[in-house]
Amino acid sequence: MSAPLDVVVIGGGQAGLAAGYYLRRLGLGFVILDAQTEAGGAWQHAWDSLHLFSPAAYSSLPGRPMPVQTGEIYPDASHVVGYLTAYEERYELPIRRPVQVQGVHRDGQLLRVETDCGTWRARAVISATGTWWRPFLPAVPGRDVFRGRQLHTVEYRSPQDFTGQRVVVVGGGNSGAQIAADLAYNTELTWATQRPARFLADDIDGRALFDAATARRRALDEGSTDTGGVASLGDIVAVPPVREARDAGLLKAHPMFSRLIPEGVEWADGTSAEADAVIWCTGFRPALSHLAPLGLRGARGHISTTGTQAVDEPRLHLLGYGDWTGPASATLIGVSRPARDAARDIAQLLGISTPVSARAAHT
Ligand code: FAD
Repeated sequence: MSAPLDVVVIGGGQAGLAAGYYLRRLGLGFVILDAQTEAGGAWQHAWDSLHLFSPAAYSSLPGRPMPVQTGEIYPDASHVVGYLTAYEERYELPIRRPVQVQGVHRDGQLLRVETDCGTWRARAVISATGTWWRPFLPAVPGRDVFRGRQLHTVEYRSPQDFTGQRVVVVGGGNSGAQIAADLAYNTELTWATQRPARFLADDIDGRALFDAATARRRALDEGSTDTGGVASLGDIVAVPPVREARDAGLLKAHPMFSRLIPEGVEWADGTSAEADAVIWCTGFRPALSHLAPLGLRGARGHISTTGTQAVDEPRLHLLGYGDWTGPASATLIGVSRPARDAARDIAQLLGISTPVSARAAHT
């Protein structure tokens, strides 16, 4: 077993890279362990037509602006993968792939990180494993009796896989709206949402969402009235394909059905729709099973944090999972600030002095 490091970062998506950027600036010894074989985190697995909901200039990690994608205001997922690949090369981040972390354990003064490729020990750990790897499916009755195909957002690729089929898309968030728009032209589409679809104004995109999340966190920190953040604006960014399908009258949301039946889906009033496939665009949960040995989950299954730091294990930081680890921290632009704060807090915890240049780094 090699000498202990200052920090092990688990996950080499955008959050892990942002953490690496600041750890390097602070001069800490670290490694990033990533389960993927290639750079890019979850962006490598996005469906074919997925584009960012913000322009490149509003989708950058610290230090290196995302270049504009020729011909696109909103870059596509392959552009993000290219950007993340160049980013980790540019900063020569010490990434090991593919390494699947199986468990993080307390080991005296250290944390021990067990993986399928051996064991690392460190004085602190940053967990940045994202959510894509833990798709969420709601407990709707009849999921086991439906005879068609069921898949989650993570398995959807392209409308060509469903040409001419009767498809039910479930979910009123961005994934649901975008996949429904994708399928609107070549399938018999039913789009089911828990509550009426709420589109943001056409001129609002990810920039405004980031501003709203930041304003909310500031209000909460100052003890002011909760602004409602992103949720107060709506659920769905009207990116161009969504807008086009909606304006063509092809994107009509139906109320959520009450159960699946062998032939399709059925609403509470007894009406039904036949379906060949149901696509569950019903979200994700943080991928945190590797932290189970630390026993940090509270009564509601949640790990308590102050900022990014786990309340009951100060050597552990959680980065990028959602607003509970920093405003908009699950976005490209939003992860910088919590990554900087996590690296700085770890340096302080380990008694490593912070160079002025790092303190003044990108915010
Ligand atoms: P990931 O990209 O998931 O990276 C985590 C990495 O950790 C992965 O490489 C994974 O393999 C690895 N990992 C997981 N578990 C382990 C383990 N046990 N051991 C080792 N490695 C592990 N954000 C924006 O800013 N703009 C957008 O337009 C936007 N659109 C989105 C659209 C969709 C459909 C989704 C789902 C998200 C979108 N996001 C967007 C949010 C966010 O930017 C992405 O989800 C992003 O992938 C999150 O990055 P991450 O680094 O936190 O996680």
